[in-house]
Amino acid sequence: MIKTRFAPSPTGDLHVGGARTALFAWAFAQKFKGQFILRIEDTDFARSTRESKEGILNSMRWLGLNHYGKPYLQSERLERYREVADQLIREDKAYWCYASPEELSKMRESQRVRGLKPRYDGRWRPENAKQPPLQTDIKPVLRFRNPDNGMVSWGDLVRGKITISNGELDDLIILRSDGSPTYNFGVVVDDSDMEISHVIRGDDHINNTPRQINILKALNLPLPEYAHLPMILGADGERLSKRHGANSILAYKDAGYLPEAILNYLARLGWGHGNKEKFSIDQMINWFTLDKVSKAPAKFDFEKLDWLNKEYIKETPNDDLSKIVSKKISDSVGKEGTGNLALSSVIGLVKDRAKNTVELADSVLSFLNYTSPNPGLVEKYYTADVYPCINHFREQLDHIDWDREQIGMALKRSLSHYNKKFPQLAMPLRVMVMGMEKSPAINLTFELLGRTKVCARIDTELVKFVL
Ligand code: GLU
Repeated sequence: MIKTRFAPSPTGDLHVGGARTALFAWAFAQKFKGQFILRIEDTDFARSTRESKEGILNSMRWLGLNHYGKPYLQSERLERYREVADQLIREDKAYWCYASPEELSKMRESQRVRGLKPRYDGRWRPENAKQPPLQTDIKPVLRFRNPDNGMVSWGDLVRGKITISNGELDDLIILRSDGSPTYNFGVVVDDSDMEISHVIRGDDHINNTPRQINILKALNLPLPEYAHLPMILGADGERLSKRHGANSILAYKDAGYLPEAILNYLARLGWGHGNKEKFSIDQMINWFTLDKVSKAPAKFDFEKLDWLNKEYIKETPNDDLSKIVSKKISDSVGKEGTGNLALSSVIGLVKDRAKNTVELADSVLSFLNYTSPNPGLVEKYYTADVYPCINHFREQLDHIDWDREQIGMALKRSLSHYNKKFPQLAMPLRVMVMGMEKSPAINLTFELLGRTKVCARIDTELVKFVL
């Protein structure tokens, strides 16, 4: 069975890059009717936090990247890592190292001076004839005995064949002095225990893969397939970070992006289906293959994301959008603030212009918060030359059927009767009825507000005209 995982370290928010990795691993598992699991890699106790874990879980839930079963927590599997470490010690594939941090930095310094690449020199390998000191304050770390010779290679499903010489690698620490497993060790034990078939992760981990393969081989365990996804860069070609704009997924949520738009956009970061920019998550699952993932870094384009978000807002049912903005609306105007208007109808009127749901809520609010126009607008638009035309239009409003077509026809009749251009009538009407120059289409706005309200507002304002 295909089994993939997303394995974030809870040391910060879930960022765009992590979410893209999660999406690809999730989509791959969905495509093959496999399983996608979530594993929280929280053994770096100094840096892991509960808030970060919660934030990651919330972000995954919001995006709809559902995982199979409960999330695994590495902190709950410490015994298991110890058990595997003991096996390696028994088989002389791992050993305790008592070198102090000062000693190791001296060692590296002297390597640098001699023009060598700094690396652990194997001083605590048993054959190097050291005995554990009888009295020491140093709590040892456990090191994996990396093979001295030969090559490690794997067929990366994105990058193709990658080969590294063992001479490049040193004996890495697998248990810290507090007994916790390091990333490379926890990952190996877990990917194997959890029967992960495909390890899909960012290419910042390519250097770790040969180390992980060596440990798997030392344990006589089968190797998973590996796929390393390209980096994501900002417009300036630097690795995407906070200074390029929002980076955390929950910040996007707060800024009014829809999860569908985020997923669609993330899918385009390093993968594509021809030139298609907009597609559903089901289409992505259908089309997704790892061999179409690009080796080259992807560029994050905020404008494209905004465009997609706008498109998704347009096609999201008004009732669904209502649920997203209703809290902000009732916080601002109270539960009764929409009068007898259904929130979803107001949304229907204004949503085509909104780039995000924050803008959408603002447009709804400015629609609901009618205030009489300011004196500047009154002076600008309430002029004698347009008065007869407005009056003519107002009179028609008492007799027509109240719908968008009839209101539109009435506008046309008044315009042609007085030989006016559309804005000459529309602008003062907007100011009179909405209190501002900008509003959605007049006929739709009036239809929604209803005859009584529209006529009452026009009547109140008509008396202010200077004739
Ligand atoms: N905890 C690692 C990270 O957050 C996971 C890497 C992997 O997928 O192996 O980068």
